[in-house]
Amino acid sequence: MAQFQLNILGCGSAIPTARHNPSSQILDIRDNLFMIDCGEGAQLTMRKMRLKYTRLNHIFISHLHGDHCFGLIGLLSSMALQEKSGTVTIHIFEEGANLFDQQLKFFCRDIPFEIKFNIIKPEKALIFESHAITIETIPLFHRVPCVGFIFKEKTKLRHLKGDMVKFYNIPIKELHGIKEGNDYVTPEGVLVTNSQLTTDPDQVMSYAYCSDTAFNPQVAEMIKGINTIYHEATYTNDFAHLARQRGHSTSAEAARIAQMAGAERLILGHFSKRYRDESPIINEATEIFPNTILANDGMRIDLL
Ligand SMILES: [Zn+2]
Repeated sequence: MAQFQLNILGCGSAIPTARHNPSSQILDIRDNLFMIDCGEGAQLTMRKMRLKYTRLNHIFISHLHGDHCFGLIGLLSSMALQEKSGTVTIHIFEEGANLFDQQLKFFCRDIPFEIKFNIIKPEKALIFESHAITIETIPLFHRVPCVGFIFKEKTKLRHLKGDMVKFYNIPIKELHGIKEGNDYVTPEGVLVTNSQLTTDPDQVMSYAYCSDTAFNPQVAEMIKGINTIYHEATYTNDFAHLARQRGHSTSAEAARIAQMAGAERLILGHFSKRYRDESPIINEATEIFPNTILANDGMRIDLL
């Protein structure tokens, strides 16, 4: 089992189709589930993919369009019936918190777990931190306030070169600092640089979810250096006028963002229902950014 696995629950846009549910995905971080958007049908795909409610404690809603949050009340209601315990934190704009609070009071009176709302704003901000990861919001450019989410594993420690540690007879109390990047000075006053004593740490996981957004180079700037990017690609270039009108991106624009951000891999989603087959979308993107894949409902992607 991978330590960081992305599970696509839905990657369609406004209207659910026989092929795609609306937007929802779950990032599985060492068996802790982080849901990103919760379009209609999310709980059904979650079941099909055997992702457990008991492990879901955080839900992130990028914006208050129905195709990104209509699944929320149904999911929470099912979780209540399944006797989930603990706390579920919903990271959402204030209007959404008020709206769902009302729905919960009406439909789910006896919830056996605690629901907390963490109010987010359309800005760059740190919204979650644990010993292992950080989660940030970034502002996007849609018709309503909208954010993307950046998930990052914290930097790992450098690896000690055992033979060098032995050679310099370095005391144990110094080793942690050296793993963090410190140099070492011998009792005789000789400086031993960190690069002589260590090798690079393991690669860290980093993932950016770019929800509904018009093309804007500022997005690439904000996600610079992230390994895997999910970006909406509602249309191909021949419908660029619709993308403009509706605050969405074309496939080529998503690919340009990945290229400008220096990403390693791009995952496309939020496909318009007009495409019965997404090959025009992937073909357009790979001309600009070759390492691109199409999301699909039920797909699992290892992020590290
Ligand atoms: Zn939207």
